[in-house]
Amino acid sequence: ALHNSLIELRGNIRVHCRIRPLLPFDDASGLSQGRQRNFSEKVAYAADDETVLVKCSRPGHASVNKTFQFERVYNDLESQDAVFADVAPLLTSLLDGYNVCIMAYGQTGSGKTYTMLGPQLEGNLAFAIEEESELGIIPRATQEVFRLISEKPPGSYCVEVSVVEVYNNEIFDLLAKDSCGKVFGIKRDVVTTREGKSDVPLLTHETVENASEFLHLVKKGLLLRVTHPTLVHAHSSRSHLVVTLTITTVVFGDNFGTLCEDEQISQRLNKEASFTFPQKMRDNKSTSSSRASSPVQLEATEKMKQVKTRLQLVDLAGSECVGMSGVTGAALRETSFINRSLSALADVLGAIAEQRAHVPYRNSKLTHLLQDSVGGDAKLLVMLCISPGQKYLTESMQSLGFGTRAR
Ligand code: ADP
Ligand code: MG
Repeated sequence: ALHNSLIELRGNIRVHCRIRPLLPFDDASGLSQGRQRNFSEKVAYAADDETVLVKCSRPGHASVNKTFQFERVYNDLESQDAVFADVAPLLTSLLDGYNVCIMAYGQTGSGKTYTMLGPQLEGNLAFAIEEESELGIIPRATQEVFRLISEKPPGSYCVEVSVVEVYNNEIFDLLAKDSCGKVFGIKRDVVTTREGKSDVPLLTHETVENASEFLHLVKKGLLLRVTHPTLVHAHSSRSHLVVTLTITTVVFGDNFGTLCEDEQISQRLNKEASFTFPQKMRDNKSTSSSRASSPVQLEATEKMKQVKTRLQLVDLAGSECVGMSGVTGAALRETSFINRSLSALADVLGAIAEQRAHVPYRNSKLTHLLQDSVGGDAKLLVMLCISPGQKYLTESMQSLGFGTRAR
């Protein structure tokens, strides 16, 4: 609770940092025994629950001894539960009408996917959902959204999901189907609507009724990412994954909250809800038009308004590419796109932090896509992921710098 109140005071961008445990693959294979031990030495620590300490002194190297402050720092023993406990209040905000974005930033292997989705099955991007306690932010956030909705009058909320991948500054719709219903990743473009909102025309939005339907769709999208011929080149760490939940709320008159206390009105609201939602409208076109001729229903419809809020959950491409040199060919092309999108993201967060009038969202597809859930009164949580080993010192310092500038 203390954390949450601090978070509120700090405004709309908060940065949390998670330091994962040292893992067996952190050794530097191919190096001599002595150097291996040095490389797998721990250099990044959670000094306390708001401070990261990076401490390293090796003979022949410049020594580092630096601290970084964030809204919250998780040590290597802190569970998925502990991380999610700090995320949950954002979902309450989401249902209160705020757009929310949660993104994981860090080099490949630092724990972004673990934090956002959960541990992955070997060679398969579908995540293991058998182990409840290991679930990451995306499945938990969805469960929480549906739990919060279940406390509201039934039928007054509609949840739609989209899954996209941003690769080489192109957006791929991972839920798009061809005329035979076969799912295929298709290129889409993001535009800005007349109301100034960013939008991806023709992007597939699937209505989901519960968390397991949602997970099924996300898994399908993730699977496509590794099996589809035109996408398979995009290794998960080379692309950004953006999962969007769009929540449509039926607002009745101009005082939804109070009206919903009224049993009669909420009953009426439930009846009307099915009639207003886009998906349902498409499903029962004939029934809704016949229903619309009833005078009572017409009156109710006039007083009803749809409010859309968005939750965007982002597993960013590996940040090790920023400033990386010595790469060539296709990897160089990928690297320069990742570079540009992550620096466009840094520019956007910098402009917001400095409260500049112009925020350069349009410099990359990634920031354009996230425009509505980053900045303004939207709430953003950046989850910095850090590998603690000496081997990744440079990348960790870069990530900590990114997080520091964003605040
Ligand atoms: P990234 O997505 O940033 O490339 P991953 O999430 O795939 O990194 O994590 C790399 C490896 O580290 C995976 O095997 C993952 O299960 C493990 N890992 C990451 N974070 C943790 C953690 N907090 N606790 C235990 N294992 C973790
Ligand atoms: Mg990953």
